[in-house]
Amino acid sequence: MPSSDYDAASLPDLLPLYYRRLFPFSQYYRWLNYGGVQKNYFQNREFSFTLKDDIYVRYQSFSTQTELEKEMQKMNPYKVDIGAVYSHRPNQHNTVKSGTFQALEKELVFDIDMTDYDDVRSCCSAADICSKCWTLMTIAIRILDRALREDFGFRHLLWVYSGRRGVHCWVCDEAARKLSVAARSAVAEYLSLVKGGEETVRKVVLTDPIHPFIRASLAVVESYFSQYALQEQDILGNKESLDKVLALVPEDVRKDLLQYFQTEKNPEKRWGRLMTLANNKRGTVKKGQYFEKEIMLQYCYPRLDVNVSKGVNHLLKSPFSVHPKTGRISVPIDLKELDTFDPFDVPTISLICEELDRPRTGEEEEEEDDTKDKENDKDAAERRKIRDYKLTSLAKYVKYLDQFLDGMARSRKGELLKKSDLQKDF
Ligand SMILES: [Zn+2]
Repeated sequence: MPSSDYDAASLPDLLPLYYRRLFPFSQYYRWLNYGGVQKNYFQNREFSFTLKDDIYVRYQSFSTQTELEKEMQKMNPYKVDIGAVYSHRPNQHNTVKSGTFQALEKELVFDIDMTDYDDVRSCCSAADICSKCWTLMTIAIRILDRALREDFGFRHLLWVYSGRRGVHCWVCDEAARKLSVAARSAVAEYLSLVKGGEETVRKVVLTDPIHPFIRASLAVVESYFSQYALQEQDILGNKESLDKVLALVPEDVRKDLLQYFQTEKNPEKRWGRLMTLANNKRGTVKKGQYFEKEIMLQYCYPRLDVNVSKGVNHLLKSPFSVHPKTGRISVPIDLKELDTFDPFDVPTISLICEELDRPRTGEEEEEEDDTKDKENDKDAAERRKIRDYKLTSLAKYVKYLDQFLDGMARSRKGELLKKSDLQKDF
């Protein structure tokens, strides 16, 4: 069954099965507990649930993994969001003295949504996406991932498909979680290049000298530009999209190009002419002339929803939450497979629930017999849960989360060793 066969009406029937047998609670708890380094880190975390008929319940919090599991299995939320770690337990926020309940920490998060690119994609609009425009998300991830690692030194970045038309990034390093609102704003501003709304024609303005961060970002865009913008989006093709590009070049260049384009229809050659004119112009004027680079960035550079990144108490859809409209699971993206990641391949809740009922192979039956011998019921239940998701297309995404969590655990161990070595020296 192709995963596009999801029917939103079936969601209330599928969610109980999903939360009972498939949701990766142990990895989820392991993530948000961060090794138990800070007291009450998981317990003071806000979760919010969207229930049937858009009933929104904020300030949920849980003492243990089991409590979280039980509550999610009882409420069967259509959507789960993760908020900040607060000074007190969020579910008791009404009982603490007013003003003392405060958001203290949260992952640094980024939200990139395809609807913000509507002025520069011709294949789809609004909530629609296709394999052509998905390249914009690939470019966004490449650019931001590089910058966050190389320019800011972060190491633990979890990229997640939102389930519909965008991606989220959770920067999980301790230093990122402790950033103030002002510091988060500074990072988000540093990473924002495309400015202005609908009424702004020229949304990227470059000045001399070009910042190294912009050069590095341009290198990423350049590797996708020809295939994506010139071929697939055909931005120099039909009159409407061509006019938009020509509005971004100086008057004399526009005249030259219009004449050249009358006989030359090949998009690569058309772009080549534009590049040549840009280079010539740079030789004759003193001030930087980078209109070809500005066009590339305006069409391809990531468009961030900076408000999501700035706030500590801003909520963001949780990984492994279901997208109620598409039924797709919000899965982590392995950057080693980024160029082949296809949002339409991401499993829907209906697909993975159906996969659970498929006849099992001999090997799996044996494993099941094994667990019957276990004295501890909880152990057996845990084992069954592990095996359940492994029977489905969700398995590789949970495995990837495991690897991500192993990476963070190794870092924590490394930090501890460093600290104990320092103490020995004194
Ligand atoms: Zn598209």
